[in-house]
Amino acid sequence: MSGLTSLTLKAALDGLAAKSFSSEELTAAHVKAVADARALNAYVLETPDKAMEMAKASDARRAAGQAGPLDGVPLGIKDLFCTEGVRSTAGSKIIGQFIPTYESTVTANLWRDGAVMLGKLNLDEFAMGSSNETSAFGPVVNPWRKTGANAQLTPGGSSGGSAAAVAAELCLGATATDTGGSIRQPAAFTGTVGIKPTYGRCSRWGIVAFASSLDQAGPMARTVEDTAILLTSMAGHDPKDSTSLPIEVPDFASFVGKSVKGLRIGVPKEYRVEGMPPEIETLWEQGIAWLKEAGCEIVDVSLPHTRYALPAYYIVAPAEASSNLARYDGMRYGLRAEGANLTETYENTRAAGFGAEVRRRILIGTYVLSAGYYDAYYVKALKVRRRIADDFEQAFQKVDALLTPTAPSAAFQLGENADDPVAMYLNDIFTVTVNLAGLPGMSIPAGLDAAGLPLGLQLIGRPLDEATLFTLGGAIEKAADFRAKPQKWW
Ligand code: GLN
Repeated sequence: MSGLTSLTLKAALDGLAAKSFSSEELTAAHVKAVADARALNAYVLETPDKAMEMAKASDARRAAGQAGPLDGVPLGIKDLFCTEGVRSTAGSKIIGQFIPTYESTVTANLWRDGAVMLGKLNLDEFAMGSSNETSAFGPVVNPWRKTGANAQLTPGGSSGGSAAAVAAELCLGATATDTGGSIRQPAAFTGTVGIKPTYGRCSRWGIVAFASSLDQAGPMARTVEDTAILLTSMAGHDPKDSTSLPIEVPDFASFVGKSVKGLRIGVPKEYRVEGMPPEIETLWEQGIAWLKEAGCEIVDVSLPHTRYALPAYYIVAPAEASSNLARYDGMRYGLRAEGANLTETYENTRAAGFGAEVRRRILIGTYVLSAGYYDAYYVKALKVRRRIADDFEQAFQKVDALLTPTAPSAAFQLGENADDPVAMYLNDIFTVTVNLAGLPGMSIPAGLDAAGLPLGLQLIGRPLDEATLFTLGGAIEKAADFRAKPQKWW
């Protein structure tokens, strides 16, 4: 059967329920698409046998009338999620050929609901990056190209594999994680939808840690409704993660398609940054106009501490990373480069196992946490973080959600920012604030730039109010009517 990989996740679920096709057929079509798309380097591990086995079991459950909410739909899993019996690398050489003996809670929830795993998706090493170029497995290539050009573009990062796989129809949806923008920026770069839920919505258990106070899992898919269906399954309290929230998970999909009439939308003036392409500014205006037409009230708001967000993030995130990554010492996981004594073995292992960006983060993190600098850097960054959260709290007294661009540019060329970490970090300018404040944020594809590349708009919500984001995201999706797809060249 053809066309099965182009379905939305919702349409696939409907088709499975109507017995129009089986999960085996749906999965086989995806397994083939994945194998035919290796030029994109989206998957670091394909698990076709497992996928077919899971599909078969799903068909059997459905035949027995026991289908779960995601039964039979094939998904890609970011290789930051530990999967039992399946190699999990975090995009790093240091983890080597680690095969977890346990399943992350988020993926366990997906399998509980019947989903099928196609394989593990490429990402920046330890999810540190904005272009997927720090991966030990090499960069993912964006399925999108500029009109009439064949230069290879980044799909964004760190969830570059997830974004490319969703955009190129190599899965119906994917898991991703977002510490400073890694779901939303790649979604914007690939014309896909991604939501980072409120900190604590999804369990972090079994996800390789980057910066624990910022890390959060979320879904990527081709429609707002599909991300809502996935998040409903992924989220939920987990006693194994003390920061996961003991609260009910609503049926998020039920909020897609609701009226946005009367909702107040804040437009933060500080997000009009210098050097932003005029097309992004125009798209933002367009987004404002769409929501206005749909009955929203537009309110100008100020988030005065926004300009300190990036520096604060690039202190807090590396500080936590340097601590989290201390565990990779050659004793417990993967790689070991022997030395003359224990210290030398540690040193050799870490020097051989970590890539340049991860080493940079460890050095920055260790520095800002060291005696004498701790107060000047780390404590100050924590104070800034508080101010940023306060800015949002004040804004949310006046508005129900905020609308901003997702990223300050469209997808850039692979290699373009590779020698300039600061230019790379600037990609996160609109997304890190949301992580610092623990809020939910969603990126929705809203249009194309002059070169034919997708651009995204970001919605930011109150803590735990993903529901409003799904309603507003649905409204933007409807107004934008974004149907463009990458031209298949792979
Ligand atoms: N690009 C950001 C960084 O490099 C965010 C990464 C992420 O969200 N995982 O830290």
